[in-house]
Amino acid sequence: MKIDLKQLRNQPKQGESFLFVESWPDELLQGLGAGFAEPVQVDLEVVFTGQMYVGRGKVTTKLQLLCSRCLEPSIFEVDEALDLTMIDAGSRKPDEFKDDILLVEQGEVDIEPAVVEAIFAIIPLNPLCNMDCQGLCPGCGVNKNQEACRCQEDHIDPRWEALKKLT
Ligand SMILES: [Zn+2]
Ligand SMILES: [Zn+2]
Repeated sequence: MKIDLKQLRNQPKQGESFLFVESWPDELLQGLGAGFAEPVQVDLEVVFTGQMYVGRGKVTTKLQLLCSRCLEPSIFEVDEALDLTMIDAGSRKPDEFKDDILLVEQGEVDIEPAVVEAIFAIIPLNPLCNMDCQGLCPGCGVNKNQEACRCQEDHIDPRWEALKKLT
């Protein structure tokens, strides 16, 4: 996901648009039990201020995540704003920016790390297929969204067992 900013450098304050649509491997989301259900799309408008390149845009895609309650795969939409600050390598970092600056090398910069970061930042810690997901029964393991739990039938209340013995 490299963008070429050489043209922009010669025309300060003239915006330039970049569009990427790329299929990314699921390995990028490794460890999350997740995958990409759609290509990653990035729309970015970059302006050169004379000192830095300011990129505004968004990243959209669809992820397949496992619901943290019922463990079913569910589709999760990503539609996130992207704010990038890029400077030419070797030029002085503006003081107000500590990090999150991408370095432009020979007029080009790879924005992929920032896009990956934006996607990761919004993946919920405990994804849910639905706010009302009933989850799995800890007793019988059924998905309570799909089936009624049978635990009640299987386990007779021990107090009733005791009463039975009396009769
Ligand atoms: Zn669920
Ligand atoms: Zn159950």
